[in-house]
Amino acid sequence: MDDFYRENILDHGKNPRHRGILVPADMDCEANNPLCGDRLRLTLRLDPEKKRIVELAWDGEGCAISQASASMLGETILGMTLDEVAKIGKQDVLDMIGIPLSMNRMKCGLLSLKVLTIALYGLGAWHQHELEDED
Ligand code: ZN
Repeated sequence: MDDFYRENILDHGKNPRHRGILVPADMDCEANNPLCGDRLRLTLRLDPEKKRIVELAWDGEGCAISQASASMLGETILGMTLDEVAKIGKQDVLDMIGIPLSMNRMKCGLLSLKVLTIALYGLGAWHQHELEDED
């Protein structure tokens, strides 16, 4: 069963979806994971009402998990409303990755969600996510 997920990660790692930088963009945010050296930048465009994600692009470098999770998350959120995006939690992203991750690897897998959360709601919202972990 893990094979499907492993192959999916390799595929997204090798052929990342929505790669690049949008200029201009409505939102432009970058974050890194110093433990592993992963870096991700997300640019996205919203519809005229500023309610729905209509275009997005990722740029970055790092391990397969971090880059594949960005590619997968990008496919998931494209076309979603911001209200829908707000409901995506850490577990949703981990389920998407689908293989068990060590604590350090988890930071790789969740970097995409971190960038997205900071882009939409600011760093404070991400710290809130992190605190929920410890409950
Ligand atoms: Zn990594």
